Amino acid sequence: MALEYDIDEEQIQHALHLYPRHVSEEQMQTFERYMAEIFTAFGLDLNTPATRETPRRYIRALFDSTEGYEGDPKLLTVFETECRGGPDCRLSQVIEGPIHFYSLCEHHALPFHGHAYVGYIAHEHIIGISKLTRLVRLFARRFSVQERIGQQIADTLEEMLSPHGVAVYLEAHHLCTEMRGVRAVSPITRTTFWRGNYDTDASLRAEFFVACGLPRGGQT
Ligand SMILES: [Zn+2]
Ligand SMILES: [Zn+2]
Repeated sequence: MALEYDIDEEQIQHALHLYPRHVSEEQMQTFERYMAEIFTAFGLDLNTPATRETPRRYIRALFDSTEGYEGDPKLLTVFETECRGGPDCRLSQVIEGPIHFYSLCEHHALPFHGHAYVGYIAHEHIIGISKLTRLVRLFARRFSVQERIGQQIADTLEEMLSPHGVAVYLEAHHLCTEMRGVRAVSPITRTTFWRGNYDTDASLRAEFFVACGLPRGGQT
């Protein structure tokens, strides 16, 4: 591993969907008034020391929880490595997980949360291990769906690193069903995305799950 360099700005803009949000203080105050009205109508007493600031806190928390829309400049750096061909380049996996993530489902704007496991087989570029966590959070901290988060992680890693393969496994609890449901056991939704060598090589997929501590292919 040697040179650190910045990848093409335009390419990364496209890959990471960097869109700074512009929400004025005046708009925020308007939103707080809406929330105060909704909370009151639904039964929350806002005239107590504990709840007086709740509309404000709620709007700020919602804003912070969706900061993924603004991108992450720390993701702009990748490292060069040498592709020596052979088994190193076909089979050697870099795997990170569990990476805890929280997201908001775009259907109900309620949280779903769980773990991500991300793997890739490097070719000529690698990324710092902590960046994989950043990548997961970048796409999770939005209004989204589990399938899209997995797809975006896989697509972006492909675009950033041109690796020989990418594997993404996500498992999550969805509060929009669990909070209102009656089932005692809450289900876990599992999604996988495979690119490159993982797509064609079942033994790589099996090895990925074992390395993640999910020996039965995520069916824990
Ligand atoms: Zn939902
Ligand atoms: Zn290679």
